[in-house]
Amino acid sequence: SCPVGAIFEGDNTLSLLRDIATPKKLVVVQIAPAVRVAIGEAFGFEPGTNVEKKLVGALKKLGVDYVFDTTWAADMTIMEEAAEFQERLEKFYKGEDVRLPILTSCCPAWVKFIEQNYPDMVDVPSTAKSPMEIFSTIAKDIWAKELGYSRERVASVAIMPCLAKKYEASREEFSRGDNYDTDYVISTRELIKIFKESGIDLNDIEDMEFDNPLGEYSGAGIIFGRTGGVIEAATRTTIETITGTHLDNIEFNELRGWDGFRVAELTIGHIELRIGVAHGLEEAAKMLDKIRAGEEFFHAIEIMACKGGCIGGGGQPKALKKQVVLEKRAEGLNNIDRNSKIRRSHENPYVKAMYDKYLDYPLSHKAHELLHTRYFPKFNKK
Ligand code: SF4
Repeated sequence: SCPVGAIFEGDNTLSLLRDIATPKKLVVVQIAPAVRVAIGEAFGFEPGTNVEKKLVGALKKLGVDYVFDTTWAADMTIMEEAAEFQERLEKFYKGEDVRLPILTSCCPAWVKFIEQNYPDMVDVPSTAKSPMEIFSTIAKDIWAKELGYSRERVASVAIMPCLAKKYEASREEFSRGDNYDTDYVISTRELIKIFKESGIDLNDIEDMEFDNPLGEYSGAGIIFGRTGGVIEAATRTTIETITGTHLDNIEFNELRGWDGFRVAELTIGHIELRIGVAHGLEEAAKMLDKIRAGEEFFHAIEIMACKGGCIGGGGQPKALKKQVVLEKRAEGLNNIDRNSKIRRSHENPYVKAMYDKYLDYPLSHKAHELLHTRYFPKFNKK
């Protein structure tokens, strides 16, 4: 089950097979960063092996119409989150009343936990939607519309390492009437089940590229899948935007590591940032308690409910030597980042094109309408 009890595992495998078999449905699948370095384990690949091209091939063989990458949308999330971070920082340095820290908002389990247990802090998370929801909104409201397809005709399916994403997909704010932006979520383990029951072995599958324009990603987007990665991606864009420089070193080792609650102090040019990173339930709650009590101050924080971040998500293949496997999966993502031609979200040409053509600029009126959300205090009944 999900680490914060956001949801118990519900099986959506039949929904996918049903939609593939329905001729009038256009099945559009997105794949989260952490899935590609873990799913191969079920087919004999070493943990951390990037099998994304085999995944695309296998999904096409299954009958999926389009296979896109959530990582592209992670770059979009960073554009919005980094702009919000910059806006809050500027107000803070001018002495204006502004809420800091800003919390990265892509972990729905943790967002729900804050809504229920820290209702006085619901203005801490960034209002940028998670990559999964940004992808689904753009896929249905921009991409499909441009091709002449209605929202109802598209089955928007998310392959996620996460069980809480099933809950996130069902939140009303991510729907238009009874049509949800993400129709349903398939966990990594569910996809393994579908492949095995369909006789698909990733070893025998020919590599295929993601479809575009929602498939091209940066290295910053890919490290979303491990602890410290989202805030590292946001920091790359925020610092380069504020200082107007191109940093030589964008691997912030201070933000990396495995301690459950770690603090990094970064000084770059005239910018000084104090950043907190937490993963796993207990350490994350400790961090929020200290912030709430005024014992700690951070400009920005990242909290992931699962140990290791999404690479250790509740929907991923189980591992006997958990820490060893998590480290290999994290290194798999770091290697993809290191070998990427584009390593900053703001340099992704398909992200830039989306703003040029449809959204104007980060935090614009149009971007707010499509890419941002709200959080709601939910008081626990005692
Ligand atoms: Fe889901 Fe990732 Fe949060 Fe775990 S850390 S609950 S996998 S979003």
